Amino acid sequence: MQHQSKLPNVGTTIFSVMSALANTHKAINLSQGFPNYPSSQKLNNLVTSAMHNGYNQYAPMAGNLDLRLAISNKYQLLYKNTYHPEKEITVTAGATQAIYTIISAFVRPNDEVIIFKPAYDCYEPAVHVNGGKVTPIQLSVPNYKVDWAEVASKISDKTKMIMINSPHNPSGTIWTKNDMLQLQKLTIDTNIIVLSDEVYEHIVFDGEQHQSACLFSDLKQRSFITASFGKTFHNTGWKIGYCCAPDYLMAEFRKVHQFNVFSVHHPSQKGIADYMQDAETYLSLNAFFQQKRDLFLNLISASRFKFKPSQGTYFQVLEYSNITNKNDVDFAKQLTTEFKIAAIPLSVFNKNKKDDKVLRFCFAKTDETLVKAAEILCKI
Ligand code: PMP
Ligand code: GLN
Repeated sequence: MQHQSKLPNVGTTIFSVMSALANTHKAINLSQGFPNYPSSQKLNNLVTSAMHNGYNQYAPMAGNLDLRLAISNKYQLLYKNTYHPEKEITVTAGATQAIYTIISAFVRPNDEVIIFKPAYDCYEPAVHVNGGKVTPIQLSVPNYKVDWAEVASKISDKTKMIMINSPHNPSGTIWTKNDMLQLQKLTIDTNIIVLSDEVYEHIVFDGEQHQSACLFSDLKQRSFITASFGKTFHNTGWKIGYCCAPDYLMAEFRKVHQFNVFSVHHPSQKGIADYMQDAETYLSLNAFFQQKRDLFLNLISASRFKFKPSQGTYFQVLEYSNITNKNDVDFAKQLTTEFKIAAIPLSVFNKNKKDDKVLRFCFAKTDETLVKAAEILCKI
């Protein structure tokens, strides 16, 4: 038999590649984004209790209602904003499934989807597999600022969706209120759906505020917001996330979601719902990660890497042109095999694999790991 690949240009994701290389070479793994400290014991106990208390059969298709209520309360608390727990919130198998399902529910062959590059690597294949076309907009190091005139020039009558992501993986930059207002202005009176990937909403530094799409009334009416408990509660392996959208969009989402996954791991949902009753569980995240960012940056300040402090996410981008002319993929491999420290090369997320000589380091690690990592980086 012969099959024409639906994704002929897609290989194995860089996250699997670099983590495997780090394991083989026993390198400190600051590549794939996951914590190396435990998920909260209290949360683990709540999930275990949920299992003991009978939450072991299918959750409702849209998610455990206690969890949807907890999510709804969070939007009220943080953004004075309402998402109806029954009609406007759906629990998913991580943000990845939410993103895939949103795209599947709306993007038809030849529809155009605007994606800002560098972009998280699950966005583009999901568009392609559904027959859509990606319109990339490349942002530039080190500030990754959007040129809104350029965005205006890229919008056409085929533009179905614009995907945004703030705080931004991999650059660690955040969008300002003005960015969101510009996006709102450009999309007003159009049929464009906005997919606002906000998985790092609780990780914003230096007193800045996260500019959620739900804060802008017209944007909210056309937006899906995606979120990840893996990022918020330090358990990326649980793969629980959710999305919010106005009911008319969510109804279409659920038509696909019910046949894509139907529902996700029930005891985790109930445990997370109980855990979220204390808002500190997510409000404390900014300070928790700011301490880690500051520690890491202080420790590497004498190194030959150049950087602008990350504004959000748990990633720090380091520029290495003082050290070598190697391309970023080769340098990332050399760092892993020779220096025993793994990072992610940013070119893989760029348009035409543009190499800016920058690497992404994950600082969601114990202080001890960050100290060891910094010692290595300072010797390079
Ligand atoms: N979007 C971005 C920007 C991410 O960094 C990630 C990785 N956490 C995801 C989506 C996927 O999240 P999840 O692991 O919950 O599927
Ligand atoms: N979101 C994680 C990162 O950016 C990786 C998730 C994955 O491995 N697919 O590193």
